[in-house]
Amino acid sequence: MPAAAVDPIALARALIRRPSVTPADAGALKVLEDALTQLGFACRRMPFEGIENLYARLGKASPNLCFAGHTDVVPVGDLEAWRCDPFEARLEDGELVGRGAVDMKGSIAAFVAAAGAAKGAGEVKGSLSLLITGDEEGRALHGTRAVVEALAAEGEVIDHCMVGEPTSAEVLGDVIKIGRRGSLSTQITVHGVQGHVAYPDRAANPVPVLIRLLYALQQRRLDDGFEGFQPSNLEVTTIDVGNPASNVIPAQATAKLNIRFNPNHSGGSLSDWIKGEAARAGEGFAGKIEAAVEISGEAFLTKPGPFVELVAEAVAQETGRRPQLSTSGGTSDARFIRLLCPVVELGLVGATMHAVDERVPAADIEDLAGIYRRVIQRYFEAYSAPVQPQ
Ligand SMILES: [Zn+2]
Repeated sequence: MPAAAVDPIALARALIRRPSVTPADAGALKVLEDALTQLGFACRRMPFEGIENLYARLGKASPNLCFAGHTDVVPVGDLEAWRCDPFEARLEDGELVGRGAVDMKGSIAAFVAAAGAAKGAGEVKGSLSLLITGDEEGRALHGTRAVVEALAAEGEVIDHCMVGEPTSAEVLGDVIKIGRRGSLSTQITVHGVQGHVAYPDRAANPVPVLIRLLYALQQRRLDDGFEGFQPSNLEVTTIDVGNPASNVIPAQATAKLNIRFNPNHSGGSLSDWIKGEAARAGEGFAGKIEAAVEISGEAFLTKPGPFVELVAEAVAQETGRRPQLSTSGGTSDARFIRLLCPVVELGLVGATMHAVDERVPAADIEDLAGIYRRVIQRYFEAYSAPVQPQ
């Protein structure tokens, strides 16, 4: 039975109509699963802790090219400010408007259409797979990370992966991401002893200790960048004492900071540094300092090479423009997938992602499907083992 052609706009609209605000699935994965099943994909739900995830594979042979993404979306925010219902998936003046249009139901639909076309033309000389999670925009604990661990444990091989996050900056395909900076957050709590400002010897003021620590942390220039990466930066995001009285030494002072770091550092090395500075700032202090460090992702880079090159070439062929190879922006699920295989990220123009009136030209979704189709073609040309002559 020949696979029916997939209309990426219709599929994107069907996905947007499912209000899958993290952690809700709202039937979004079922829409996707139905479309993939029609194309011959074997679909598996991989739920973890109530989060729905989907792994779908077409074919059993290697190599296995995977597309990764998420069907969950961020909340709509100020509903009144939207020009239309964010889950109506309205087509207006050639644009598709709705929550998830660019991040990233549009790109998922584009890949499914590309897979259908490639299958129809007999270009899938190996396997195509999709790893789609319902927990990317939240804490991302039970989404891609859990699925990647489970697949690795059962010996499933993914050879290369493309993540469909909205990487394009101004026009479709102008930027692809080949790495990401790491991210580490820290909550610092200085516990002192409350007392009267006139009797400091009976109290332990946490405020000067916190100031000393933050000053020391801010003083260090982390680095001047790393090949392909911006310099690492540390930002203090809040300092809180909440003491309304001018004659009371407060009992506690807290602060939060975040570091975005390149491969000059690891989460562990930065965590050790913060804890060391905390110990130094607290020397001679009667109270105690806590630094709760949370590492949400390590920095990584997929070295420019044949895989990155074939994706860049596919973009250039379809759009006439060579994409810039970038590592900028926040973290993405690529941080988990890179543990399995080389990963690049390529998707729609991200200008309106997470914003009111999130939207994308319908033509961009069609063009992205064209780019993905070329990636699939080139991938199997480059990586499929040639059939041995008898
Ligand atoms: Zn996203």
